[in-house]
Amino acid sequence: MRYLELGKTGMKVSEVGFGGIPIIRLDTDAAVRVVRRAYDKGITFYDTANAYRDSENKIGLALQGKRDKVFLASKTLRRDAVAATEQLENSLRMLRTDYIDLYQLHQVAHEHEWQALTAPGGAMEVVVKAKEAGKVHHIGVTSHSLEMAVKLVKTGLFSTIQFPFNFLEPDASEELFPLAQKLGLGILVMKSFAGGVINNAELAFKFLRQHPYAIPIPGFDAEPLVDDVLSRYDRPNNVTEQDLALMAEFRAKVGKVFCRRCEYCQPCPQGVKITPAMGYPIFVSRMGKKVAMDFARVPMESVPKCEECGKCIELCPYDLPIPEILKRNYAQYVRDGEENQD
Ligand code: SF4
Ligand code: SF4
Repeated sequence: MRYLELGKTGMKVSEVGFGGIPIIRLDTDAAVRVVRRAYDKGITFYDTANAYRDSENKIGLALQGKRDKVFLASKTLRRDAVAATEQLENSLRMLRTDYIDLYQLHQVAHEHEWQALTAPGGAMEVVVKAKEAGKVHHIGVTSHSLEMAVKLVKTGLFSTIQFPFNFLEPDASEELFPLAQKLGLGILVMKSFAGGVINNAELAFKFLRQHPYAIPIPGFDAEPLVDDVLSRYDRPNNVTEQDLALMAEFRAKVGKVFCRRCEYCQPCPQGVKITPAMGYPIFVSRMGKKVAMDFARVPMESVPKCEECGKCIELCPYDLPIPEILKRNYAQYVRDGEENQD
C-alpha cells in the first residue's frame, strides 16, 4: 500500500480508501470485521456520511482505539445551520471522536443548494466554525454534477472534491480533476464500479490506477473483497489494447442512463424498494432469469405500489426517470416469470 498526500490537507492517506455505504446492509459484527480487515491491510482513509444510516456507528465501533492512525471523513446533506449542527454532533458521537479529519458538504448538485448553504444561517457557517473550534480539520465537498463541481472547486473554500469516476463515467479527468489538482485540492473518487454496473473489478481498477492522483473509495461488504481489491495494487498496472477496447465496448453498451445505487432516492413513501428494483436487468444478466427472479422477488413485487409522485426523481442526482424505468423492469420481471413457467 502506498500513502499519498491528500491535496492541501497535507495529510497522507492510503492510495485506496474505504467507502461506507455497503456496510449498511451488514449486521454490526460483520461490518466491524470488514472495517477491521481494511485497517489491518493498511487502509487509513474511511469515508461515511450521516445519510448512510448506521455506517458511522459501525466505522466508529470498528476503529475504536485507532483514532490517531486513521483519517475519518463524513458528510452532511443538510443545508441549514441548525440541522447541519445536529448532524455534525451526531457524526462526532457515532464515530466516537472529538474531531473529524474531513467534513464534506454532501451532494451539492444545484445552484439553489449552493445558495442555501452559503446564505446567512446556512450549513457553511457551521463547518467553518467547527473548523475554527478544531472539531473539523478540513472542509470538503461532494457532487455528482460536473458543472457544479467545477464551480465548487473554483470557490477556493474546499480542501477536497469527491466525484464519481470510472471507465463508464471518465469525464472528470478532462477539466475537473486537472483544475482541482492545479488549485491543490485532494481528489476522492466515488462510484469505482459505477454503482455495481461494472462487474469486472480487474478492468475497473486498471482504469482507476491510470489516474493515481485520484483516491478511489470503493465500498466493501466482505473481507475477501478487501483482499481482492488491495491485491490489485501489489502488481504493475498493465493496461492492454484489449482492455481499452473492452472498456469502450462496455461504455457503448451501457450508455449514460443507469442507476448508480447511491440510494439517495429512498425511502419511497409508498414502500417501493427502488434501488434493487432499478437493478433487475443487471441481476438477470449476471445470474440468469430464474435466480434473479428469486433474488429480486421482494423489491420487484413492491414496484406496483408506485404512485408516480415524482419524489424519488427530485432526489436522484442523475435525474433518472425512475418510475418509468421501474415500470419497464417490472414488465421484464413479469415476462421472465411467464417464460419460466413454459
Ligand atoms: S415515484 Fe413511485 S417510486 Fe418514486 S417516490 Fe413516488 S411512489 Fe415511490
Ligand atoms: S435511482 Fe438515482 S438516486 Fe436512486 S439509487 Fe439509482 S442513481 Fe441513486
